[in-house]
Amino acid sequence: MIVFLNNKFIPAAEACISPFDRGFLFADGVYESIRTYNKKPFRIDDHLARLKKSLKETRIDFRELDSIENIIYELMIKNEIENEALIYLQITRGSAIPRTHSFPKENITPTLFISVKELIDNTEEQASGVKVILQEDIRWIRCDIKSTSLLPVVLASQKATEENASEAILVRDGLITEGTHSNFFAVKNETVYTAPKSRFILEGITRKVVLELCSKFKVDFCEEFINKDDLKSFDEFFITSTTKEITPVVEIDYWKINQGNPGKITMSLQSLFKKIVEDY
Ligand code: PLP
Repeated sequence: MIVFLNNKFIPAAEACISPFDRGFLFADGVYESIRTYNKKPFRIDDHLARLKKSLKETRIDFRELDSIENIIYELMIKNEIENEALIYLQITRGSAIPRTHSFPKENITPTLFISVKELIDNTEEQASGVKVILQEDIRWIRCDIKSTSLLPVVLASQKATEENASEAILVRDGLITEGTHSNFFAVKNETVYTAPKSRFILEGITRKVVLELCSKFKVDFCEEFINKDDLKSFDEFFITSTTKEITPVVEIDYWKINQGNPGKITMSLQSLFKKIVEDY
């Protein structure tokens, strides 16, 4: 595997960063995950806009956003990606000695790391749906920033894995926010519900596409938090993300929804989404 690290394309095995990199010491960094359709990075402008916001909010002074798209294409060629690619991109504040909590006094160069790999097929999950569990949302209250500080997410995700679930859906003060790495949707009486844009969720690019589809195809939607105790009053559920696309949820905490069958609105949004990406 060839990766891009600090202005160089190098074999993954040779990629090294300093232990004084603030990404390593403090998780002082931001990231993006992007996928391709027809070998083109999907909604790259949206991803770069979100990255720009994350950099601004964390005050990381990285100015070369314009070069990223070309690096991605170059990495896909160098890695001989045959089908679709998943791109991981991380920028940290950079490396400085000695370790200090506040920003280093001298100017430091941010660390840029980009890798690409072949996407794993998710056809089965898309068709049959997945099981999720509920977990307390113990993250900070700037979940709108795509920060690499992900320990609460790592722990909740591991709990899901241990319970044979695909995702942990997070609950803050009784309200459902989102998944550890996906946005959460519910449907009631043909209206689609999802948590509002706020500091409590990441504004997913797939979430945005789903809401655009709802607007275009006259599906009613409502951006409001769902109370965990009201879950059973909804008819169907799904999660969205770059890699999960629109994945039906058929089980929540051992409650089988619709006898374990994906919902009607979920599947029609999924097929509309597939049409968009087929032609991308
Ligand atoms: N919410 C969180 C916390 C995430 O980490 C992600 C993606 O990784 C998403 C939502 C979905 O975002 P997107 O659709 O841009 O992949």
